[in-house]
Amino acid sequence: MSLEPRPGILDIKPYKPGAADAPGISNPVKLSSNENPMGCSPLARSAFESSSRNLNLYPDGGAVRLRAAIGEANGLDPDRIVCGTGSDELLQLLGRAYLEPGDKVVQSQYGFLVYRLVAMQSGAEFVSADETDYTANVDAILKAAGENARIVFLANPNNPTGTYISHSEVRRLREGLPASTMLVVDEAYAEYVDEPDYETAFDLANEYDNVVVTRTFSKIHGLAALRLGWAYADKSIIDVLNRVRGPFNVNLPAIEAGIAAIRDTDFQKRSAEHNRQGLAFMRQQLGGMGLDVTPGVGNFVLVHFPETKGKTAMDADAFLTARGLIVRPVAAYGMPNALRITIGLDRDNRKVVDALSEFVAA
Ligand SMILES: *Cc1c(COP(=O)(O)O)cnc(C)c1O
Repeated sequence: MSLEPRPGILDIKPYKPGAADAPGISNPVKLSSNENPMGCSPLARSAFESSSRNLNLYPDGGAVRLRAAIGEANGLDPDRIVCGTGSDELLQLLGRAYLEPGDKVVQSQYGFLVYRLVAMQSGAEFVSADETDYTANVDAILKAAGENARIVFLANPNNPTGTYISHSEVRRLREGLPASTMLVVDEAYAEYVDEPDYETAFDLANEYDNVVVTRTFSKIHGLAALRLGWAYADKSIIDVLNRVRGPFNVNLPAIEAGIAAIRDTDFQKRSAEHNRQGLAFMRQQLGGMGLDVTPGVGNFVLVHFPETKGKTAMDADAFLTARGLIVRPVAAYGMPNALRITIGLDRDNRKVVDALSEFVAA
């Protein structure tokens, strides 16, 4: 190799997305990437299709109409919103703009893998704070962060555990961190949650100039293919992100579909309701067969398996794959004995339940 990248880059393990095929099976059911089983809003699809007439045009680099629509839907000032190529890009950009080699980045033990990649890309030091019952522990995060963390990442609810912390706990976290520490609250699954003590952190981003909230169109809006996300924060942070993002980072079809999707509250409600029922069904059925299911609130379940030979998570994964059911092993998250299973259509949830009950009984 005649060219070496910056130190640390070759230590990064590239992010491995959920599998999409089951060998030898033509129409497998993909429950490995927390995609929306209902598809997307029909209004978003038709906006996407209409946009195909304008593929020769550059998109609006400021995504003005999209930010206005997001602002209107959420009661937020569009000037405090920046859109990205998935919320993933915005997390990357925060790292690019705010992290220097040696800086400390903190996350919760089973936090989303992308945070680690963001830290490593900048040569930052990455510290994990132990969880309690697969749930972020604010005291542990504060202790790990100390006085000198540069960024604390919190997914709320978290992927792959599905657990959340209450709004008062998120507030306590912000209050306990020094002003020089940025708190990033990744709310990719916020729209699915209806627990009374859960709330978005938008209000904290209003009160504090060092809080960033990220949202995505990939989950409840069912537009993962278009790569669209957004961040809400103080104008000073939005200004920084606008300087480091690509000038046309969000493409034209994504903008048009995104505007239609954020306005289609009916589709969002139907998706959330479908998920609420599917999640309850999966938790009840899998729990009923003696599997340990972490009580999550996202669009997936985290299921734990014993270490008994023939009954492990890897065995269950192979058993499901052989039946065309693709789920997500989470060994890369430090959970070799668990599988993450996205809530699918009713018939697919039923297939998973039937297959796992056969697996457990065998
Ligand atoms: C799915 C997911 C996202 C969304 O990523 P996009 O880049 O917007 O598709 C962000 N954070 C978490 C924790 C997720 O699970």
